[in-house]
Amino acid sequence: MIVILKENPEQKQLDNLIAWLKSMDLSIHVSEGTHHTVLGLIGDTTIVDIDLISALDIVEDVKRIAEPFKNANRKFHPDDMVIDVSGRKIGGGNFALIAGPCSIESAEQITNVAKQVKDAGAQFLRGGAFKPRTSPYAFQGLREAGLELLTSAKRDADMPIVTEIMDPSQLPFFENVDIIQVGARNMQNFELLKELGKTDKPILLKRGLSSTIQELLMSAEYIMAGGNEKVILCERGIRTFETYTRNTLDLSAIPLIKKLSHLPVIVDPSHATGIASLVKPMALAATAAGADGLIIEVHHDPAHALCDGQQSITPSEFKSLVDCINAILPYSYKRK
Ligand code: PEP
Ligand code: MN
Repeated sequence: MIVILKENPEQKQLDNLIAWLKSMDLSIHVSEGTHHTVLGLIGDTTIVDIDLISALDIVEDVKRIAEPFKNANRKFHPDDMVIDVSGRKIGGGNFALIAGPCSIESAEQITNVAKQVKDAGAQFLRGGAFKPRTSPYAFQGLREAGLELLTSAKRDADMPIVTEIMDPSQLPFFENVDIIQVGARNMQNFELLKELGKTDKPILLKRGLSSTIQELLMSAEYIMAGGNEKVILCERGIRTFETYTRNTLDLSAIPLIKKLSHLPVIVDPSHATGIASLVKPMALAATAAGADGLIIEVHHDPAHALCDGQQSITPSEFKSLVDCINAILPYSYKRK
């Protein structure tokens, strides 16, 4: 990080600034130019509050040279993170397919979809029990009862399960959950992220509706700073001015995040588009762009789904999608 000072800073204020920065365990390199003095901060600058320094009378500008995230930074972890979930691996060349309904609706629904997506090639079963709905009058999920149904589908199909948590108070119900999902709306629920940092379960962290890539990585940093390194990042589309699609899938986020971070990056083409017919082309595009996996909403009867039927594909459509993914996978992997 560099701090550019205004012309002729008052010596006492400068001494105070340097002493303060040193108190943060940083070494300071002072270079005096004709007009401006520049301070080079050497050490771990992740804790430095850039806004606080910028606001000082004697400071003209502050620039970060290194990224503010450390645990999630590929610079410090050159090798891809591989997350092992009951023998199924994600990342580092291991492609993960997560599929299932938006919401768990009944025992029959989740058990049947689980079997069908597994037969088609999915390694993980998804299903929401606690649902973050825009309207309080919409179906809110079966909550604890839904988690029980998902757990029995997990046993029946022998598939690890992925489901969303909305509040730290729900954690006791998540004992049998293999991957805990943090939804887009909760990406910056920092208290939730801190609690998840204390668990040892893999966390599937979805990008917020209007969040930058750096904000996503800083949220991953919250979880990792608490001691839980097992974070899977998920690009699920961001809000733009386009209204034909539910969101806009940011495909460039995949190779960009993979450059910045060693964490696995998966893509959710269902929420990214909100349109069932767009799921397959976007899933293929994401795979070709180097995604480490996909999370896809699959429903046996999308027209009657209690949530997100418009973007859900059927088990047979999922099967044809998986066949196409398998056909292009070696190509994307060769490019790694
Ligand atoms: C979901 O996966 O069902 C979901 C609500 O996703 P998101 O948080 O990405 O909207
Ligand atoms: Mn959904």
